[in-house]
Amino acid sequence: MDVLQLDVSGRPQAWITTREAAVIYASDGVAWTLGHPCQTLRGGLQRVTGRQSRIEVHPIIAVRGAVPSRAWRQAPALTNSKLFVRDRFVCAYCGHHCMPEDLTREHIQPTSRGGADTWMNCITACKACNGRKGNRLPEEARMSLLYLPYVPSLHEDMILRGRRILADQMEFLLASVPRNSRLHG
Ligand SMILES: [Zn+2]
Repeated sequence: MDVLQLDVSGRPQAWITTREAAVIYASDGVAWTLGHPCQTLRGGLQRVTGRQSRIEVHPIIAVRGAVPSRAWRQAPALTNSKLFVRDRFVCAYCGHHCMPEDLTREHIQPTSRGGADTWMNCITACKACNGRKGNRLPEEARMSLLYLPYVPSLHEDMILRGRRILADQMEFLLASVPRNSRLHG
């Protein structure tokens, strides 16, 4: 499992491994935590007591002194895997639910015609629909969009990036995701 790292004010910063989290615990860098401990790591023997140290890792940790991420001022990076999750693996033209390997990043306005490679100009499409639309605008190809693109918020981006998100983490992140997000659907 991965641990959701926040800054002290509660803004998500990164997914980190339990090992990385353990280092932060051991250096007294954890300001506060959320959720029930989800893993116990055993450390070295303590010199004074001779007992093995144990670190209980929580699913969400706020880190002392963490600098607010610069990412908050910019749109999250666009990747195919995040795009497909945003669009729930559904082709925007035919509405079919597909496996990731059958999906493509479709530029609504083709890049060859000045379309940008951004969240607002990209949508998920199956290979067949992408091929059929080709180098045309949706209206030229008479293919209308079944849903619209949008720029994910940073909380939403953490969900799109997460691999195995625990219930506690999902609850925390979804609480800050705009209601119109498809992730609520
Ligand atoms: Zn399709």
